[in-house]
This record gives sequence, structure tokens and C-alpha cells, in this order.
Amino acid sequence: MIVTVKKNADPKLLKDLIASFEKRGLQVNDSQGSNYHILGLIGDTTLLDEKMIKANPIVDEVTRIAAPYKKANRLFHPEDTIIDINGIKIGGNEKIAVIGGPCSVEGLDQICSLAEKVKEAGAVMLRGGAYKPRTSPYAFQGLETEGILDMVEARKRTGLSIVSELMDSDQIEEFDKYVDMIQIGARNMQNFTLLKAVGKKTKKPVLLKRGLANTIEEWIMSAEYIMASGNPNVVLCERGIRTFEKYTRNTLDLSVVPIIKEKTHLPIIIDPSHATGNWKYIETMSLAAVAAGADGLIIEVHENPECAWSDGAQCLKPDKFKHLIDKARNIAHVIGRDI
Ligand code: PEP
Ligand code: MN
Repeated sequence: MIVTVKKNADPKLLKDLIASFEKRGLQVNDSQGSNYHILGLIGDTTLLDEKMIKANPIVDEVTRIAAPYKKANRLFHPEDTIIDINGIKIGGNEKIAVIGGPCSVEGLDQICSLAEKVKEAGAVMLRGGAYKPRTSPYAFQGLETEGILDMVEARKRTGLSIVSELMDSDQIEEFDKYVDMIQIGARNMQNFTLLKAVGKKTKKPVLLKRGLANTIEEWIMSAEYIMASGNPNVVLCERGIRTFEKYTRNTLDLSVVPIIKEKTHLPIIIDPSHATGNWKYIETMSLAAVAAGADGLIIEVHENPECAWSDGAQCLKPDKFKHLIDKARNIAHVIGRDI
């Protein structure tokens, strides 16, 4: 339920109103902007009498929220949330953040050399998987801690912040110490125990990918799990969903951009690499994502895609990655943003 508070409400009456909700076991989200003041009530509001609340002299409006998500809901937080990662801001009208790097970290030299190149191309963050969710147990599973430490060294050499995928709650301490943004992969989007642990044990920004076959509402509910557990710093990432189509690895659902912005206040970035599975289509889909209003792009880049230890077919070489960013910058300018 949303209670809209009148401008210049008496502070004592406001305090009493909040206390009256809390007494009923509700959590109250007090949110104020330059031209709004709302109380978001979380918990069982079925027994609240809207008419009685509206009778309070400081209350303007009472609205019941139909959507099951509250903390992620735009109605609870009308302003865009901007996530700050070591000074790089994602969301709102900030610069569109481009994240580049390999699917998997393959060693110190590989990641450091690539980090220099993606930085030169215009990326503001480095990606690299150290714990890999592979379909086959016989496929390369990632360099694990060694890979994370290689990323840390690449950050030291380039100044690029780093993002990597966390697969198990055992890894939270390690990621909290070393990584700047924690990726929760598509396959773990509904691992609710993991989402709760990440919400509870770290405040590091979380990049939450959409599940392989999940609705937008299910995806927002997963963000809600992290937020309700104590970590409000969530960035959503569309990476394509399973459809009957075979010419692409997944189907990029770009309609999520306006929908996420309407329903939530969270930033949304696009991963055209996993969405298409084919380097040839990545530039086009990236330009479309920027035009649609995405807050960022996460793209797989490799110096030698034929030899990549995972996802080579969808990796761009650094020169193509740079070309893409330069083109995307032009599109960004058309919609009044920058990269
Ligand atoms: C990845 O980013 O390399 C990855 C495995 O992504 P997803 O979870 O979207 O498949
Ligand atoms: Mn990959």
C-alpha cells in the first residue's frame, strides 16, 4: 500500500502515523523527493481501512499496490535508482555504462591484456567469469579463486572496476572482498536461498540476470528477494530468453527496457552476447538496446575468439568492440545521453 503524504506535513503527525503502521507489524518505507512524499507499507495490509487512513489530515491519497513486488516497485520509489560502482554511475540519465571482457578468465596475461584493450575501446568496467555455470560437467569450470585474483590484478593495472559471477553462497566472502559488482547468472535467478544470502551478507551491487525462461515479474521478484534481504543495490540484466527460434542462442527481449523502467526504479542493462550467441549480431542489438533506453551493455570480448575457453562464437575482437562503442555513442547522443 502507498500512502501519499501532503506537502509540509506536521512532523509529529507523520511520526505518529508511521508508528501506527509499525505497531501493526508493517514495515514503512519513507521516501521523499522534491515533489513527492510517500510511505510504502510492506507486509499484510489487508486489514487496513483505507478510509480511516485517508481521514488523517496529513494524508493525501491511499493506493493499494496490485504487484507482488514492493521495494523494487516504481510506485514505492518514483525516482530512478542510480547504482554507484567506484564512481561509475549506472541508471537515471547517467552515461550508458559499457562493460567488456571475456566469458572466462583464462589467466593473468589474458585478462590484463584484454582489460587494457576494453578500456582503450571505452569500456568502464571489466567482466570475466571465474566460476562458470557450464551445461556439461566435463567443460571448463573456471579458474575459481585464481581467476578472481587475476581480475583484481587487471583492476590494479587499469583502474577498471570488475564484475564476476557468483554461484554459491560459500563465495560471498571472497566476492565481497575482491569484486566490485556481483553477477548472479541466469541459471541462479531463482535460487532463492542464494538471493537471500547475497541480500543479507553483502551490500556490493548485484547484477541480476534474467532467467532462461522467466517472466519479467518473476525476474523483478528475484530482485525483490535481494532487496528485501537488505541489499538495495540491484542492476537488472536482460540476456535473452528461450524461445523456439534456432538462428540465435536465445531471443533478446528488448521490450523489457521500457517495461522495467515503468514498473521498477532499477537500472537495466543488456547482454547482447548471450542473447544472440553470435558475434555478427552483437553490434546491431547493442545499438537497438541503447536506442531503447538501456542503462548499459555487457559484452563478451576476446583477442582470439577461436581459442576462447568458453563462448568464443559470441565474442567480439577488441577492434570491433571499439567500433561498436563509437557507433553506440552516436545513438546515445540522439536520445540525450552519453557513453
Ligand atoms: C556469463 O555471463 O558468462 C553467463 C554465463 O551468463 P548467463 O548467466 O546470462 O548465461
Ligand atoms: Mn559467457
